[in-house]
Amino acid sequence: MGLMIDYSLSPMTARQVLQKHWDGSLPVNLLHIAKSMGVGVFKSETLDTIGQVSLDGAGNYKIVIDPNQSKPRRRFTVAHELGHIALGHLRPGETLFRDGVEQFFATTKDPREVAANKFAAQLLMPAELVKTAFEKMPDMSVQRGAEIFGVSEAAMGYRLINLGLVRG
Ligand SMILES: [Zn+2]
Repeated sequence: MGLMIDYSLSPMTARQVLQKHWDGSLPVNLLHIAKSMGVGVFKSETLDTIGQVSLDGAGNYKIVIDPNQSKPRRRFTVAHELGHIALGHLRPGETLFRDGVEQFFATTKDPREVAANKFAAQLLMPAELVKTAFEKMPDMSVQRGAEIFGVSEAAMGYRLINLGLVRG
């Protein structure tokens, strides 16, 4: 039995998930957050996609990821799938699949995918901490930020542009 949390009735933003389930440490501990949200995270060598998320008829949320991706990619995928859950995208019995392209570059037009990517960036790179790091820490760089937040340099760079901290 899952925790029977129906996020479609009470969706949560990334900010709300961080407020409720995050201990403030970096990189953001996704597995702890997933567990707190009642979500199981599993790895499978036999996936056709880099990740998928499902909700079964009993209310159990499950994320499955391809373990052969880089760690930053796996983290972004888990955060993306948590976004589908928290934003209430899943109906009972539904599975959503994530393909291998760098979807956070907004090449996708599916509004659910766009929203999940935005959620993932907000969850992994909390705005206040990114601003503090890049405005106050000496010798800050995209590479260093990517290490601190546990994301790819591409994701870090894109987040900085979205937060208005660098020009695209
Ligand atoms: Zn997705």
